[in-house]
Amino acid sequence: MSIASINPTTGQQLQIFPTFADDVLRAKIVESERVFQEYRHTSWTQRSQWLHQAASLLRDDRQSLEWAKLMTLEMGKPIEQAISEIQKCAWVCDYYADRGAEFLAPKIIATDASQSRIEYQPLGTILAVMPWNFPFWQVFRFAAPTLMAGNVALLKHASNVPQCALAIEDILLQAGFPLGVFQTLLISADRVESVIRSPQVKAATLTGSEPAGASLAQAAGAVLKKTVLELGGSDPFIVTTSADLDEAVAVGVKARLLNNGQSCIAAKRFIVLNAIAPAFTAKFVEAFSQLQIGDPLQSAIDIGPLATLAGLEQIDRQVRDSIAGGAECLIGGKPWSGLPGFFYEPTILKNIPPTCATYRDEFFGPVALLFTVPDLDAAIALANDSPFGLGASAWTQDLVEQDRLIRELESGSVFINGMVKSDPRLPFGGIKRSGYGRELGRMGIREFVNIKTIWIK
Ligand code: NAP
Repeated sequence: MSIASINPTTGQQLQIFPTFADDVLRAKIVESERVFQEYRHTSWTQRSQWLHQAASLLRDDRQSLEWAKLMTLEMGKPIEQAISEIQKCAWVCDYYADRGAEFLAPKIIATDASQSRIEYQPLGTILAVMPWNFPFWQVFRFAAPTLMAGNVALLKHASNVPQCALAIEDILLQAGFPLGVFQTLLISADRVESVIRSPQVKAATLTGSEPAGASLAQAAGAVLKKTVLELGGSDPFIVTTSADLDEAVAVGVKARLLNNGQSCIAAKRFIVLNAIAPAFTAKFVEAFSQLQIGDPLQSAIDIGPLATLAGLEQIDRQVRDSIAGGAECLIGGKPWSGLPGFFYEPTILKNIPPTCATYRDEFFGPVALLFTVPDLDAAIALANDSPFGLGASAWTQDLVEQDRLIRELESGSVFINGMVKSDPRLPFGGIKRSGYGRELGRMGIREFVNIKTIWIK
């Protein structure tokens, strides 16, 4: 078996890697447990220094450009966005280096004991199964808190970004983390279950699709191991009559099309009140028509290819099924053939009927779904009529409306007059079929620790 790195801009294979033989995989898992028994005794100060060192490597202009190019070559994101992603990885390393010890400090609780307290102790080897869409960020936002807490990590990255996976392991080694603290596993998805079953692996996290999340949770459940799941989303972007329309359109275009439309927290369903729908729609379509599609290594390009041929075929099928099911296509609606890779035209579909099979789908590509509704009640009802509950963005100047949206939207986050984004300082995660558990912030570093109660007479 092998893992191929394919450039989605050209469809050409860049490199191919053999997957690990069973004995190599087993040796890596056993080694992680051995390393943990030493690493757990390193101090917070030491771990913090290694994380700061990783941040400075990520901020090195020459190297960071090389890593950004690697992402663009392997999965097609526009180069400027790849550069920003590397910077964000440096941020999360610095954040946990600076705040980790405070988040994990023992807490005294007064009881009938002479002293009782909570301590946060590492669990051991944590498995991370990660997606290709933010190939560096997804891994660093897991690795920084996990390593700061004293755990060690095994990464099973998506099969189309093996070079990114190996580069991340190398960065953490260069930063000074001991050999074996962070190891990349070059394995296919069907071997994840055997890794979770290994007694050395104590917990797992997966960012990716619902089927992958369910499969990992099932395997982990069978051996009673904790999981954190960050899964899909179909985030609403609600625009009311008091919204600043120009800003809502400008941010909405970015929120839908960032990363060529392949973000879990992309605004996917634009829910616009009837009174402003004609004005919003005209500006939105006009903005889509101005976008530059092409080679993502060129800095003027807004939209690059989808990461894989399967992704292109899926979005094309979803668009065609939606139109056949009654949606109106306002712009786009077909693959783009200007280059040989996996490109799709920026597309807007209006009012997919609830009876259409794609109505509750996640569209993972440059396709915006536009819905028009009579009032805020209908907007909230439509927003919540989804199996997902990751993020939500709502645009209104009205404080009463803001309160209602914050209270009533079923999602892991609500952003008022701004696009949904992740931030090391704020917890990140979803409800419903978008998963469970939280990453980032104080909560993120406490997901994979033993919250130990100490009671002393
Ligand atoms: P995917 O197929 O689920 O892949 C994600 C990871 O899971 C890959 O490493 C993949 O390995 C692995 N995997 C796939 N099937 C598995 C299984 N049965 N058991 C164990 N591991 C398995 O995801 P995708 O379709 O490429 O990525 C897009 C999805 O991820 C979207 O739904 C998106 O919304 C979601 N996502 C969520 C977040 C979030 O934070 N909530 C962030 C980014 C993406 P292989 O590559 O080897 O198949």
